[in-house]
Amino acid sequence: MFKKILIANRGEIACRVAATARRMAIKTVAVYSDADDSARHVRFCDEAVHIGGSAPKDSYLRWERIIAAAKATGAQAIHPGYGFLSENEEFAQACLDAGLVFIGPPASAIKAMGLKAESKQLMEKAGVPLVPGYHGSDQAPALLQREADRIGYPVLIKASAGGGGKGMRAVSRPEDFDAALASCKREAITSFGDDAVLVEKYAQRPRHIEIQVFGDSHGNYVYLFERDCSVQRRHQKVLEEAPAPGMTPAMREQMGQAAVAAARAVNYVGAGTVEFIVEQRADGSMNFFFMEMNTRLQVEHPVTEAITGLDLVEWQLRVASGEPLPLRQEQLRINGHAIEARICAENPDNNFLPVTGTLQVLRLPPCVAFLPPLPQGEDGGRGQPIRVDSGIREGDAVSPFYDSMLAKLIVHGQTREEALARLDAALAQTRIVGLNTNVQFLRYVVRSSSFAQANLDTALIQREETVVFNQEPIGLAMTAATAVAQALLGEQASEGADPFSRRDGWQLHGVTQRRFEFEFHGEPARADLRYLHDGALWLEVGEVSGPLVFSRVEDAQGNIDVHFAGQRLTAAVYRQSSQLDEVDHVFSERGATQITTIDSLAHAGQSHAETGRLTAPMPGKVVSFAVSVGDKVGKGQTLAVMEAMKMEHTIAAPADGIVQELLYSPGDQVAEGAELLKMAL
Ligand code: ADP
Ligand code: ADP
Ligand code: MG
Repeated sequence: MFKKILIANRGEIACRVAATARRMAIKTVAVYSDADDSARHVRFCDEAVHIGGSAPKDSYLRWERIIAAAKATGAQAIHPGYGFLSENEEFAQACLDAGLVFIGPPASAIKAMGLKAESKQLMEKAGVPLVPGYHGSDQAPALLQREADRIGYPVLIKASAGGGGKGMRAVSRPEDFDAALASCKREAITSFGDDAVLVEKYAQRPRHIEIQVFGDSHGNYVYLFERDCSVQRRHQKVLEEAPAPGMTPAMREQMGQAAVAAARAVNYVGAGTVEFIVEQRADGSMNFFFMEMNTRLQVEHPVTEAITGLDLVEWQLRVASGEPLPLRQEQLRINGHAIEARICAENPDNNFLPVTGTLQVLRLPPCVAFLPPLPQGEDGGRGQPIRVDSGIREGDAVSPFYDSMLAKLIVHGQTREEALARLDAALAQTRIVGLNTNVQFLRYVVRSSSFAQANLDTALIQREETVVFNQEPIGLAMTAATAVAQALLGEQASEGADPFSRRDGWQLHGVTQRRFEFEFHGEPARADLRYLHDGALWLEVGEVSGPLVFSRVEDAQGNIDVHFAGQRLTAAVYRQSSQLDEVDHVFSERGATQITTIDSLAHAGQSHAETGRLTAPMPGKVVSFAVSVGDKVGKGQTLAVMEAMKMEHTIAAPADGIVQELLYSPGDQVAEGAELLKMAL
């Protein structure tokens, strides 16, 4: 076994790999960029080497520096994690040439599976079922359109070099094909430097079910069952689970064998995932088709670990050091059910726009971080009920340079229902202040009837849009009451007074009534508080009024208990203060929300006049402008396209107007808040 390895990645996956290495008494070397100089993964490893600037191309993608760092520190092998260099065959080969072990498949297998079109040609030969489609090398637009017409609509145009859900366009009518092809090629060339595409039949009620495979250097292969990753946004996974609901033992075996055949066809070694699209026909039958093979450890591998009781990174290390696979197919068992939720810095209500900021508060549910899961044993090897894989710490800045995924929550239960309830509870305990996340959105998805009843397909989020987007879990009255209670408790604490003298204090100051001005979901709101003669409090929030009673709960979460107008809420409130106002973030079992207390004095004289300024919502790169100077544009029309955190974002006109000036050019890097163009409204 290796004595020391270098981890060529960052964030949660770097920490996760290091955890297993530590358990196996293998020393670890981290690499880091400028932006990551105090990142969690740097502290987590035994040594760390700085490799360059914040942008991935200046650090995590500079493989000559990474190899030099491995040589300088005496590391014997490099674990690439996922993303970055993990599927780069030149890097895998360069490791080998430098006398280092690449913890992953041989470069030839990465290459064979690297392009979707070429890998499909290989799979066809290996007898793996394929989605009806065209994956030839002739790329003439007219030919592609003819192929689409032959396949039948809807079709999906995919960048052959694509990944991460990028470079895909669904087309439902022949007349839309041309425009979709052009925009797909544009994204493919900017993101992957290769605009070759393939065309596939768009499957009916599609489910994404993938098989974890493993090979060793002695020609042995196993499959570690399936993961259902159907719950997606922008073709990217949001929730993943294992086993797949509704999977029959016969279908599992067929899919497992097809996946092993795929791996064998490219002499695969190490951990890999074969992704299938599963079509659910009206008659209830399910057909699976090969989509692609990811030649690396996958983000969602922990759900497989939870149901098998195995540590896949340990397997990777053993296989890479030449050992045979630890178990044979017939020794593998599924135990219980596991679900993973990806926690991302993004705004689901704004088209999942990634956000940046500082993690002022970060509370993750109590868990045993990382591994090891219990070994498979007579007791069935119960997995850990809750696992958190994270690469962040409170106080960290979330920069625009990397993926928006902050952490993963993984839960295990004996049944799907148990796992689901546990996930909901774990999400309720996840408290992040300082930037927007998808935590509350994930709770809505978990509770939606489609997910709860395992009515899964890739359109689940769309189908449930009325219950997963723009929801308010607590409501104005109770949220305002909680903010008032928190403010009074804060005053009480700072005055150091007990409740009785405080009551007298109010009387002494002659204050019998107070008004609180709020902003809630962008709307102004107010609460009037009256101190009654008997010392009780009476609150009025709009139409709702009643006695307000509250107290601190003496628990570790800092919860308070609030009773108002026949409702009760136990919540933790975190206050974020700025010059103009204070935002209270309210976290409760019912959900999380926020309310702004406005200091009317500070706001005096401020006006929010309409202006024609159009600014970048986040730091990123300008991809293109859809308008020119002098153009008349209508409200909602696309003005510009930006790219940040691996996604494209459209900037739309806030109102009708005329474009006056474009302040940047395509390709320019812009800071958050930078003015992109001027419009006369
Ligand atoms: P997977 O197929 O493993 O679930 P996705 O397709 O959702 O991963 O992720 C898209 C790409 O982004 C993958 O290549 C993955 O390696 C990369 N990626 C996702 N999250 C991170 C992260 N936190 N850090 C670095 N790369 C990431
Ligand atoms: P990537 O490399 O970006 O992960 P994939 O080929 O794995 O690309 O596809 C990503 C997602 O797009 C799938 O998980 C699925 O939701 C959807 N998808 C891909 N192919 C099809 C298809 N033929 N029919 C329906 N949906 C598809
Ligand atoms: Mg994929």
